[in-house]
Amino acid sequence: MSAERFETLAVHGGEPRPAAGGSVVFPIYQGTVFEAGPDDSAAPYIRLGTNPTQRHLHRRLAALEGAEAAVATSSGMAAITTALHSVLGAGGHLIAAGAFYGGTHQFLAEHAERLGWAFDLVDPEDEESWRKALRPGTKAFLTESITNPLIQVGDLVGAARFAREHGLTSIIDNTFATPVVFRPHAVGFDLVCHSATKALNGHSDIAAGVVTGSSERIERVASVLSAFGCSLDPHAAFLLSRGLKTLALRVRQQNANALAVAEFLAAHEKIAHVRYPGLAAHPDHRRAAELFDGFGSVLSFQPVGGTAAAEALIRALRVPYAASSLGGVESLVTRLAAGGHTGAAAFGPAGLEDDLIRFSAGIEAAEDLVADFAQALGA
Ligand SMILES: *Cc1c(COP(=O)(O)O)cnc(C)c1O
Repeated sequence: MSAERFETLAVHGGEPRPAAGGSVVFPIYQGTVFEAGPDDSAAPYIRLGTNPTQRHLHRRLAALEGAEAAVATSSGMAAITTALHSVLGAGGHLIAAGAFYGGTHQFLAEHAERLGWAFDLVDPEDEESWRKALRPGTKAFLTESITNPLIQVGDLVGAARFAREHGLTSIIDNTFATPVVFRPHAVGFDLVCHSATKALNGHSDIAAGVVTGSSERIERVASVLSAFGCSLDPHAAFLLSRGLKTLALRVRQQNANALAVAEFLAAHEKIAHVRYPGLAAHPDHRRAAELFDGFGSVLSFQPVGGTAAAEALIRALRVPYAASSLGGVESLVTRLAAGGHTGAAAFGPAGLEDDLIRFSAGIEAAEDLVADFAQALGA
C-alpha cells in the first residue's frame, strides 16, 4: 500500500485481502479466552493486545503512520507513559522539548522523580538548549508535532536528527497533527504516540491511544503495556478502526475550517492575537508549510478586552460546544485557564494567559462557523 495516497491508505491500510470471512468490515472478537494452538503456541489474550480485533487495529495503525508495528492503548496518556517506560529506567534522563499537553506535563512533574527519572524542559525551536540539557544518562527526547496551547511547530526534523546523533530514542506526540498532516517516522522519529480519543477516532465516543515504531521498539512497548494492563478493549478497537476510515476526509475539512476561522479572527478588530501556523504571520508558518500537509484543526486566540470578553464570546457562540477537547467532528471552544480536565496549573513553564481561547475545528461548514463567530463578536 506504500505508493497509495493517504485517503486510500485510511480506508484500506492494514485490511486483510481477501476480506476476513468475506466481510469488508473486520469483525469484533469480543472474547478474552482463546484456545491454544496445536503447537502449544501462545493463545491470544486481551490484556496482551493479541485478540484478533486488537491485532487488526494494530496493522491498520502501523499502515497509517508508515511504521513496522503499532499497539493501541486504553488512552492517550497510557500511550505516552508506556512509551516513556519502554525507554527510561531508574537513573534515566529525558529531554522534553515543548510546552506539552497538560496530562503529559503533570505526569512528568508529579511522577518522574518517584520513578527515578530526571527530565529537562527545553525550547522545541532551540537546538542549543537541547545540547545543554544532554547528560550521560540521557535516553530519550520527547516532543509534540504541534504544541498546546501556543500552537508552535518546533524544529521537528532537527529533533529527530539530534536524537539519532546522540543515541537517544526520539518520541513524538502527533495528536494535534494526525498522520494526515504529518508522518513523523518519515523524518526519523522512533516512536509516535497519539491520543486516539481525539482526531483518530474523531467521534468523541471512546478513549484510546496509539504507539507506532519498529517491531523491536513496539515489542518493548507492548511488554510494558501488558504489565501495566492498559491495552485497548476490542469494542473500542473496532470503533477506532471504523473512525480511521474517514480520518483523511475529516481532518482535511477540519484544517480548512480552522484556517477559515483563523483568517476571519486575524482580520477582526475585536481580536488581539491569533495563533495558527496556517497564517503567514505565524512565526512557524514556513516550517509548517514545508513539513506539513495542512496546518491542523486547532488554533488559539485572545480577544480584545481580556477575560471578560473571552467569557462573553464563548457564551455568545452557538455552533461550537464550550468544551475542552479537540479533534472531534463537532467544533469546540474553551478558555484554557478556566481549567478543563487538566487545569491551568498543568500548562507548565509556558504559563497560560487568562484570556487565551482555544478553538478546535469540527467538520461543520466553514461558512457557518465564520458566521457564528461574526454574530458572537457583534453581540
Ligand atoms: C488529549 C491528549 C493527550 C491525552 O490523551 P487521553 O486520551 O485523554 O489520555 C495527550 N496528548 C495530547 C496532545 C492530547 O491532546
